[in-house]
Amino acid sequence: MKNQQFETLAIRTQCPRSDQKEHSVPLFLTSSFVFDSAEEGAGIFKGELEGNLYSRFSNPNTDEFAQKLSLLEGCEAGVATASGMAAVYISFVAHLQQGDHVVASSAIFGNSRYIISQILPKMGVTHTFVEVDDNTAWAAAIQKNTKLVYVESPSNPTLKTADLAFIGALCKMHDVLYLVDNCFASPYLQQPAKFGADLVIHSATKFIDGQGRVLGGAIVGTKEAVEPCYAFIRRTGASLSPFNAWVLSKSLETLHVRMDRHCSNALALAEFLSTHPSIEKVIYPGLESYPQYAISSKQMKLGGGLVGCEIKGGTAKGSAFLNALNMLSLTANLGDSRSIATHPASTTHSKLSSEEQLAVDITPGFIRFSVGLEHIDDIIQDVDQALNLIKA
Ligand SMILES: *Cc1c(COP(=O)(O)O)cnc(C)c1O
Repeated sequence: MKNQQFETLAIRTQCPRSDQKEHSVPLFLTSSFVFDSAEEGAGIFKGELEGNLYSRFSNPNTDEFAQKLSLLEGCEAGVATASGMAAVYISFVAHLQQGDHVVASSAIFGNSRYIISQILPKMGVTHTFVEVDDNTAWAAAIQKNTKLVYVESPSNPTLKTADLAFIGALCKMHDVLYLVDNCFASPYLQQPAKFGADLVIHSATKFIDGQGRVLGGAIVGTKEAVEPCYAFIRRTGASLSPFNAWVLSKSLETLHVRMDRHCSNALALAEFLSTHPSIEKVIYPGLESYPQYAISSKQMKLGGGLVGCEIKGGTAKGSAFLNALNMLSLTANLGDSRSIATHPASTTHSKLSSEEQLAVDITPGFIRFSVGLEHIDDIIQDVDQALNLIKA
């Protein structure tokens, strides 16, 4: 398996065939597994014998999904979780203790920010937020008791890029655990372990499922960093359901094909928006005009499936634009085969004051597109007619 390419690993990694010799992987929808003898049961319980025991601990479908994802990320080990948030939370609590300090980028997924700023303090863990693209600030934020650095790149929702190699070197120098949420890029576009990440986490709900069906997540990384996460999951019950794992593992087989199309559609939409008179500015990591293009094109194979833009006219025009769309979905998800438009100022980030929104670069007219797999002409046509309609 060692020398195989990403596409081949994604398709050919699977759990051993059963005696039915099925070609596609069967679904092992079972809570527990039987022992051939009292001795075998005792041996598996003690960890002296290999074997499945109970699906909160392990299951062929969840193991297959975690193992395949860790191979695709270029990591040693992996464990599946019930959702992306379970992956975020568990990677924190499995590694942190009272008195520890976390450095995280300020523009991150809202619930991840909530865990860092509201839940970790209850455990006596402090934090510093820094601008994701400010290398000097990252270096300055590391303290004696810093245990973990947390990065999301590209960031949500403003699509800024972290210099993953710089932050990796910083973590190595200070012996700090380096955690990257790779949800927006997927392992096909970016493999943070190459830049020194100890742990890479995913919301598999997004591009990995890619069809808006199931929740799921995963933590992959070095054996040493993943092991405490697995121990925590099997005891506290954040395990992924076998059914969702089966769906997600099948989805990984087509990830590369879908990502190529997400990215080419996103680039075409970004180019269209760049020339439109109603658009103030466009943010897309794959555009040469993107402020951090030198870094994004070094770390990411393509620009990704998300595009941000600033509509002239602020909040009112932002909401009017969403209402004027015919085809694009208004929904709280991303990474779907269906294109989605969101207006963070009035929805996902509406709990922040307007000053707080501006501090994380969420301007009143900011729209985030998750560009799907429909024909690009139809996507652009819908966006164009909506922009024309609100101009009047
Ligand atoms: C959606 C998302 C999560 C949370 O994942 P769930 O599967 O919804 O729990 C975490 N990080 C990022 C960047 C996300 O987009």
